[in-house]
Amino acid sequence: MATHQFQTEVNQLLTLIIHSMYSNKEIFLREIVSNASDALDKLKYLSLSDEAYKSVRFDPRIDILFDEEKKTLTVRDTGIGMNSDDVVSNLGTIARSGTKAFIEQLASDAKKDSNLIGQFGVGFYSAFMVASKIEVFTKKAADSKVWKWTSDGKGEYDLSEADDSAFPLVEGVGEGSHGTAVVMYLNDDDKEFASRWKIEDIVKRYSDHIAFPIYLHYLKKEYDDKGKVSSEAMTAEQINDASAIWQKPKSELKEEDYKSFYKSLSHDSEDPLLYVHTKAEGTQEYTTLFYVPQKAPFDMFNADYKSGVKLFVKRVFITDDDKELLPVYLRFVRGIIDSEDLPLNVSREILQQNRILSGIQSSSVKKLLGEFKKLAENDRAKYEKFITEYNRPLKEGLYGDYAHREELSELVRFKSTWVGEDEKDSDGNVKPAPQWTSFADYASRMKPEQKAIYYLTGGDEKTLRQSPHLEAFRKKGIEVLIMADEIDDIVIPSLGKHKEWDLKAANRAGSDDELGSDEDKKTAEEKEKSFKPVAEKIKKALGDRVKDVHLSKRLSDSPSCIVVDENDPSLQMERMMRAMGQ
Ligand code: ADP
Ligand code: MG
Repeated sequence: MATHQFQTEVNQLLTLIIHSMYSNKEIFLREIVSNASDALDKLKYLSLSDEAYKSVRFDPRIDILFDEEKKTLTVRDTGIGMNSDDVVSNLGTIARSGTKAFIEQLASDAKKDSNLIGQFGVGFYSAFMVASKIEVFTKKAADSKVWKWTSDGKGEYDLSEADDSAFPLVEGVGEGSHGTAVVMYLNDDDKEFASRWKIEDIVKRYSDHIAFPIYLHYLKKEYDDKGKVSSEAMTAEQINDASAIWQKPKSELKEEDYKSFYKSLSHDSEDPLLYVHTKAEGTQEYTTLFYVPQKAPFDMFNADYKSGVKLFVKRVFITDDDKELLPVYLRFVRGIIDSEDLPLNVSREILQQNRILSGIQSSSVKKLLGEFKKLAENDRAKYEKFITEYNRPLKEGLYGDYAHREELSELVRFKSTWVGEDEKDSDGNVKPAPQWTSFADYASRMKPEQKAIYYLTGGDEKTLRQSPHLEAFRKKGIEVLIMADEIDDIVIPSLGKHKEWDLKAANRAGSDDELGSDEDKKTAEEKEKSFKPVAEKIKKALGDRVKDVHLSKRLSDSPSCIVVDENDPSLQMERMMRAMGQ
């Protein structure tokens, strides 16, 4: 037997898990079951695509056993299993980058929400929320050695070779079978998880649509008319639906089915914000089922975010590690793509330039953007929620996805100097005015003589709203879009126009001229002339620090402000470029 130290990050994580995770503990079972399901997926794929695994028996099942007295809970699968190297790297370290940031986030999360754990993909360790000791027995398919891993989650674990008889016996699973059994010794406070109803409830809620049968083993008692136990015997009952729900016709699926599949797929406990289920037939046959989470995935802005879309070929899981299944800006979307036309042994490299897949991708993007548009048209309140979470990635798309520029420019939203009035419906219920505006809504409020869409960037919303640059616009009743997102500074100039209107920065020199009428212009020119000596003095005093000094038409209350020359980079951009050493 050898004792191993956990990697530092694992230790930090375990300390957090053991000492401060109190909410939503039940998700540990979802995580352990989902690992069993992943292991079955992997073996299924190999047995169909890899010669070395063709002769391995594939009899997929997940079995759950519990012992109320001993306070144990066991999850056994007949999946791929692990050899000793696998165990050391999978159950002793966290290989993902970004782990440190994740642990910090978890530590600072006031709610200590265990949901984050599953989303980050360190689900196995979550079992230490409820267990004071865990044993893992595992045997890799096409291998003969059995390994036993044991730990109390405090700094180290033991790993030793065992034999087939060490595995917990499970009725229905042949002795000597490959796969993994996880035995959890529950804390006194968590012994409720060793009970039939509790387990059934959690599995139904989170794992109903795992595509393999899950059997719950329990002592079934029969009663006579006097209420006395007449017979008792161990029974195994399948407690999940075990079908690939996306293959069912829409007419057979209820909203609840979609929601519960989402939860098992995404490791999220909230309902999705929206879903879209598509079956394509004809030249290409495939099914997609996509979801948008209510809350943006926490790693959305990490470079090493986890992709949320799984690729299947004829119901066989292929990969969930391919970030190209959808464009990067749609990385918040969760779901599955199941193709009938791709070959099963498709490799990653082939996937990257596969025509079938790129066809599915482009119709999926169209479908999703269309769905977002429908939401915007039909449910303003919900769309505002959507925008609060996903405006930023959509703007990335607006910058990068030329093919869908038009659709995306209709989807993005901005804050604005225009503040709408709350509406009242016939019952007197107040419908709050929108917080955001689209380009189209802005355009509908434009002055007849207005030729451009004005916007202001370069600070947070509050600062921008108080900017002296807005004074002249306000006076003229011209609306200005308040663009407080850092990314606006890159996206908007790259757009240049929306429909026939130029997009003009309100803090650029040229935008002044269009504000005044001809009359205004004449007086302004005269004023400018008479102020010239003053302006020149100021310019001399400021020297190299400014390019020019003008008399401004844009101010009515503030004495002066800094503007950017029409063709120069914005202040924000300048700062960014300086930071990049340019
Ligand atoms: P994730 O599932 O997101 O990779 P986990 O912490 O849940 O993260 O699991 C860590 C790793 O341990 C898995 O990626 C897998 O390689 C291995 N593992 C866990 N449970 C099993 C199992 N039942 N069978 C085979 N491998 C497993
Ligand atoms: Mg997992």
